[in-house]
Amino acid sequence: MKTLLRNCRLIPALSGGWDSGLADVLIDGEKIAAVSPASASAPGSDGLDCGGKTLMPGLFDLHMHINWAYHNGELRLDDFKIFIESCLSARLYLDNGITTIRDLGSARRVSAAVRSAIEAGLFAGPRILCGGLILSPVSRPAEPDPYNFLRYVSGCDSMIRAVREEIGSGADFVKLYTPLLPEEMHAAVRAAALYGKPIAVHAHDLVSIRLCIEAGVRSIEHGSYIDAESIEKLKTGKSYLVPTLSVLSHEVATPSYTPEMKKRLLAPLLEANAKNIAAAYRAGLRLGFGTDSPIEELDRTPGLEFRMRHEYCGMDPLDLLIQATVYSAEIAGLTGLTGEVREGLCADLILVDGRPDEDISVMYRRPELVWARGVLHRPGQR
Ligand SMILES: [Zn+2]
Repeated sequence: MKTLLRNCRLIPALSGGWDSGLADVLIDGEKIAAVSPASASAPGSDGLDCGGKTLMPGLFDLHMHINWAYHNGELRLDDFKIFIESCLSARLYLDNGITTIRDLGSARRVSAAVRSAIEAGLFAGPRILCGGLILSPVSRPAEPDPYNFLRYVSGCDSMIRAVREEIGSGADFVKLYTPLLPEEMHAAVRAAALYGKPIAVHAHDLVSIRLCIEAGVRSIEHGSYIDAESIEKLKTGKSYLVPTLSVLSHEVATPSYTPEMKKRLLAPLLEANAKNIAAAYRAGLRLGFGTDSPIEELDRTPGLEFRMRHEYCGMDPLDLLIQATVYSAEIAGLTGLTGEVREGLCADLILVDGRPDEDISVMYRRPELVWARGVLHRPGQR
C-alpha cells in the first residue's frame, strides 16, 4: 500500500541533509520509497497534506523494560498476565512516537514473545530488540526467583553458558549487571561476539564504567559517575553511553520506591547525572536515548527524557532529537534501516505540530501521527 505525505517539514540532520524546503514523502509498504520537493507532486494528488508540520524519524527508547511488575515486589508469575500487560505496554510506546525499543531485561523473556506477536501482525507495536534475562552476579546465598528476570552467574564458565543460552533463546543482545570481575565481563563480550551480538551493561559507578570500556561492551547504561578520562576514551572506543534521566525524576512513581527512598537514593544520582552526563555531552559523545521507566508513567508525562536532559544537562533541542533517532539507531546497530527520514529506510515516522529542533517542548506532547514500518497509528486511539 502506498501513502503520500505531502508538504512535510523535514529536519536536515535527521533527513540525510535534506535542504530543499517542504517535502513530499512516499511510503510504499514498510519503506520510505521517495522523498521529493513538495512542488514535484501532482497538484490535487491523493495523500495526506501535512501542512508544513514536522515529519521526523520515529523515536528510540534504548533502555526500557517491557514488563515492570518485577519491581514492586509482587512477582507476577502468571505468564498470560505478563504477556498481555507487555503487549499493551508495547502499544503505548507507539502512542508516544517511540517506534524502536530495546528491552533491557524482562520477566520470563517476555519481550521475545511480544516481538513475535508484533512481527506476526497481531497488533501494531514498535520494533523490539530483546535482552532476554539479565545476567547478574550471585550476590546472596539464597537466590530469589531466578526464573523471573534475573539469571545468576558466577565465574567465566557460568557466564559463557548464560550468554549462549540467552542468545539461543532469542536475545538480540545480552544485558549484564555489575559488579563483575574483569575476566567475567571479557568472557561475556567474547562469547556474545561469536554470534555477532553486543553487550549492554548496567553501570553507575566508575570502576564498572572503566571495565566496560576496557572490555569493549556496546553500551554503558546510566553511566552516572563517568569521569573525564573515561569520556575521553569513549570518543575513540567501541562503547557508547546510554543515560537514563527519566528514572531519576520525582514525577515517575517508581514502584516499590516511596518518595522518601526516592529522595535519598535518586537525588544524588540526578546530581551526578546533571554534572557528568552534561560533561559527556559537551565533550561531543554520541549519547543514546533511554528512560529506564515504565511506559505507563512516561505516558502520563510525555517527553520526560527530553525535558530532563534539557533542564539538567543543558542539551540543545536539535542534539536531543539526534540522540533519540540517529545516534540511538547507531548504538542499536540499525543505521541504514531506521532512524532517519530517507529514501530506502523503514517508514518509522512521526508527525509533530511545531519545530522541535528549535523548541524541545514540542516533544512534551504526543505526536499527532505515527507510522511504524509503514503502518499508520493514531495516538490515543487504543
Ligand atoms: Zn533498567
